[in-house]
Amino acid sequence: MSAVALPLTGRCHCGATSYEVSQPPVVTYACHCRNCQRISGSAFALSVIVREESLVITGPVKGTNWVAESGNRRWGDFCGECGARIAHGTEPSIGMLVVRAGTLDDPSWFQPTAHIWTSEAQPWFMFADDEVTFAGQPQDTAPLIERFARFGLFPQ
Ligand SMILES: [Zn+2]
Ligand SMILES: [Zn+2]
Repeated sequence: MSAVALPLTGRCHCGATSYEVSQPPVVTYACHCRNCQRISGSAFALSVIVREESLVITGPVKGTNWVAESGNRRWGDFCGECGARIAHGTEPSIGMLVVRAGTLDDPSWFQPTAHIWTSEAQPWFMFADDEVTFAGQPQDTAPLIERFARFGLFPQ
């Protein structure tokens, strides 16, 4: 796999809201929690964790917030025109934001380092033996960050 070009760019479904990520993402994962199922309308969400200062969103963004099953307070930004989720974060900030791989202009590089919240996964979804899985929220993300770096997608 060759290096992915920065900035990463993406947009909502209607195109009114777009974004750029100026620095390499920190880690990726697939989240199977019920919140992600509801937000995406799908079986799971593909999350790209980026540094807060590296993300710039342009467009008619609106916000929402909720308490995650992990107990963390979360907020989300979505396109005010079409409602597509663009990013979400934690309150208070941990310096990281989540963008959804499906909104990237080029999602082809995306590969999850882990599947999380498998306890809430759709029963038909089969996890491969070599995939890293967590029943809930991973307590220590350092091994996942290292695994993502070993993919070699964003050479430093
Ligand atoms: Zn839109
Ligand atoms: Zn989730």
